Amino acid sequence: MNQPAEANPKDHGASSAVGICPPAQSDLFKRPVTDLPGVAGRRAAMLHKLGIETWFDLLCCFPRDFEDWSSQTSLAGLQDGQDQAFIARVARKPSLTRKGRLSILRTVLRADPEAISAIWFNQPYLADRLTVDNWYRFYGRIRRDSRSFSVQNPAFEPLDKTDPGDLKPVYPLTEGLSQGVIRQLIQTVLPQLIGCLPEPLPAWIRRDQHLCAVDYAYSRIHHPANREEIELCRERLVFEELFLMQTGLYLLRRRRKQAVVGVPLCLGAAEMQQMDRFTAKLPFRLTDAQQRVWSEIQSDLQTEQPMSRLLQGDVGSGKTVVAALAMLQCALCGSQAVLMAPTAILARQHFQTLNRLLTGTGFTVALLTGATPLHERKILLAGLADGEIKLLVGTHALIEDQVRFAGLALAITDEQHRFGVRQRIRLGSAAAEDAPSGQPAGEPHVLVMSATPIPRSLALILYGDLDLSIIDQLPAGRRPIETYTAADADRARIERLMRRFVQEGRQVYVVCPMIEEQSKTDLESAIKTFNRLSQEVFPDLHLGLLHGSLKQKAKDLVMDEFMAGTVQILVSTTVIEVGVDNPNAALMVIENAERFGLAQLHQLRGRIGRGEYRSVCVLLSDAEDERARERLRTLCHAADGLTVAEKDLELRGPGDFFGTRQHGLPALRIANLYRDSLILKRVQNCLLQLAERDPDLRLPEHQAARRALLARFGEAFANIGL
Ligand code: ADP
Ligand code: MG
Repeated sequence: MNQPAEANPKDHGASSAVGICPPAQSDLFKRPVTDLPGVAGRRAAMLHKLGIETWFDLLCCFPRDFEDWSSQTSLAGLQDGQDQAFIARVARKPSLTRKGRLSILRTVLRADPEAISAIWFNQPYLADRLTVDNWYRFYGRIRRDSRSFSVQNPAFEPLDKTDPGDLKPVYPLTEGLSQGVIRQLIQTVLPQLIGCLPEPLPAWIRRDQHLCAVDYAYSRIHHPANREEIELCRERLVFEELFLMQTGLYLLRRRRKQAVVGVPLCLGAAEMQQMDRFTAKLPFRLTDAQQRVWSEIQSDLQTEQPMSRLLQGDVGSGKTVVAALAMLQCALCGSQAVLMAPTAILARQHFQTLNRLLTGTGFTVALLTGATPLHERKILLAGLADGEIKLLVGTHALIEDQVRFAGLALAITDEQHRFGVRQRIRLGSAAAEDAPSGQPAGEPHVLVMSATPIPRSLALILYGDLDLSIIDQLPAGRRPIETYTAADADRARIERLMRRFVQEGRQVYVVCPMIEEQSKTDLESAIKTFNRLSQEVFPDLHLGLLHGSLKQKAKDLVMDEFMAGTVQILVSTTVIEVGVDNPNAALMVIENAERFGLAQLHQLRGRIGRGEYRSVCVLLSDAEDERARERLRTLCHAADGLTVAEKDLELRGPGDFFGTRQHGLPALRIANLYRDSLILKRVQNCLLQLAERDPDLRLPEHQAARRALLARFGEAFANIGL
């Protein structure tokens, strides 16, 4: 089952608990857990760590698994290595021994004719709860081989107290908080909250989808009678979670669609000619896919309704030139356009690429990053504010408060997965706040670009508020990147390969893992590799070193030399992960490849194979773990990002997929995007119907959904306009 949401406690406050209950009772939801007996200090802090602040939060702490205490297996039937329940009597007075700080409690359990030894670590108090000759139901991991027949740390209950049909919930825990405590707390609040839980799902949806009722779901999931009940509850809770999240994204999109005051960017005949001249002068012909997405974008730009579009295309599919087209159209209409990139290196590269592409159009692009010197920045800001500067590329510095535009009509973000939803909204609304001299400014068109291949089901979740354009084709003449795994023992061979590539005039990347963002070890590993290669292995070649802690000037210098071909081998941390485009680089060696996620490796690998040359990617790893090796082997066979992404999702689970930090949405508590894709489809269908019946969720029957949505995801969709 899904891991716990690392949810913001405010995400799901009790404000949803309105309507059915009389006011006093509805407040029960809001009651802090500290109102419960035994919850204070350390325990409260541990609950807080799990995102549990209120009584309702406790109910939303869903079991990640269930222990089956119902089995009637005899001791003889117990199997090695499994978690099983059994009935036995305590045959001997438990004995307690201590070894330093460790306490060990032992006894023998019998159900004639067999006996099993039981052992508990650091739970000396259990001795008092076990009475000799009394019968109990035990549950634990069985060890059974020629030497031992035992059970470690089994949970137990007196036989007369257990209900043989019991499936006991297992909760996601944090250190120091036991299952017993959480179970107890939930059993305390449940009976009080049941009966006044609001039903966020509209009745017609519940009916159509045959979903169980809210009370049933939230109570039975915590003590189900059987597996079927668990499935019933889970289905409904997953549906509810996905439905609320999807509705939030839908409303976000709708709000933008309704902002009729967009800036239509229509071209006259003369400007059309200029656009045509631009495309004709490109060093390549646009692929059919590029052409198609460009016409989708162009028709959006010409309408009054602000565009909200995701441009998705695998690494190297050529998104930058599409962005250039959109920016040019904007400038030709006399409006401003910005392109935001997640790193300064990428921003600078875009700045150079775009200026090269735009030569002869009469427009130039300006660059604004955190490293822009103060006096330049001042001039730049003035130029933006009076509309002198039409086109701008930059980093987060773009969404800082001082940046004012004269007429921003188009906001593009590159490598969207690196930004959160909120930042996206922020850039989109930058213009609206800047209405010059009382005139209402239009909302800018928003285009977000992402190379991260996302399975369609996930794209709907993560970017459900956007229209989708996909470049599903690489420029002609690209050769697939050959990918191999290798171990430390192969180093000499790999170094010979590096030399061969350089001799043929190609360039090489050596990538060292980022252990933590700009951590010391990360730096050390890159510096060590650089020193070894430049001093011992390739003293005759020109090597460059690039990492996050260099001054921007130094970074720029290395990148310039690398782009110009002077630096033959670039040793770098993952700062080159996204966007960097040097078609002459054809070999990449990735150190400690097992430390990277698959999607990330695919991104990295996308730095090569951008020209007509044979490209090779070597994944170096000495990991012995078979799963890690299997992951890396996947990459050798999967050429396109979608296959990689799906495999990644399967191996790691979606909670991990991009990391919350990367997609900017709150973690899900119970839904599993991979396993629950069928439910997601049903949610989508319902949403279509909802959009037809009550597009703004104004009907009384949809108020509970609106409130629950705000309570659950309000943080994530700040300024959603609900
Ligand atoms: P990405 O989609 O990863 O951002 P880029 O826009 O950086 O890809 O393009 C990758 C490389 O392909 C660049 O060197 C670019 O000049 C080149 N390119 C883009 N479109 C075409 C095309 N239609 N034909 C040939 N090369 C192209
Ligand atoms: Mg790119």
